[in-house]
Amino acid sequence: MYNNCMTATNHALTGAAIALAVQQPLLAAPLAFFSHFLLDIIPHFGGTPIYEFGHKYFLYIMAGDALITINAITLICFLSPSLAAVIILCALCAVLPDIILFTYYTSGKPNTWFHKTHLKIQWYEHPPGAIVELSYAILMSTVIGILLWRTQWT
Ligand SMILES: [Zn+2]
Repeated sequence: MYNNCMTATNHALTGAAIALAVQQPLLAAPLAFFSHFLLDIIPHFGGTPIYEFGHKYFLYIMAGDALITINAITLICFLSPSLAAVIILCALCAVLPDIILFTYYTSGKPNTWFHKTHLKIQWYEHPPGAIVELSYAILMSTVIGILLWRTQWT
């Protein structure tokens, strides 16, 4: 069974960008959650054996993704401490659908409409999607940089 999803890094960066742009947790958190599905529609990496449960590199990829995510979110919080709580909340909300998907990975069946929809929208999951993911990560980092710079002056 393959892992189905864009990297947690890209989801969390998007959540952080929403937090910095919106700043109001009650509005930003649902937007971050919704952003997950928009990102999953964008072509992304996948469909290769190294992205399969049980492959020797699979855990390294997951651990690397998690480490980059935690480091990036920590850095953003450090640069905008007054919004740290909203940033962490939104990053979690943006990754949450994939955490919920864990019940599918353990049971092996997409047994709810939520899982079925979540898996269906990911129409392109192939190795070249890594280029899209990398480009997206660079774009999001730039957006976050601009938003951080803006929060220093408002
Ligand atoms: Zn997903």
